[in-house]
Amino acid sequence: MTAVGRGVAAGVRARFCPLCGADLDQPRGFCHEYWAGTDRRFLLWCPDCGGTTLATIPARLTSYEPEH
Ligand SMILES: [Zn+2]
Repeated sequence: MTAVGRGVAAGVRARFCPLCGADLDQPRGFCHEYWAGTDRRFLLWCPDCGGTTLATIPARLTSYEPEH
């Protein structure tokens, strides 16, 4: 089972590279989840573009909806 596959089994949704969109659910893909307070963070490495990224899913997100 790949790193992302193990994460999906635990409810993780970080599957694609934020830089190039490649599927990270492959033997060389890297996805490591950790927590900072109540935020979920994912350290990702993509074998297709070589990019390393950090994605954060905050416990709460405040935004607004623009007028239509
Ligand atoms: Zn990539």
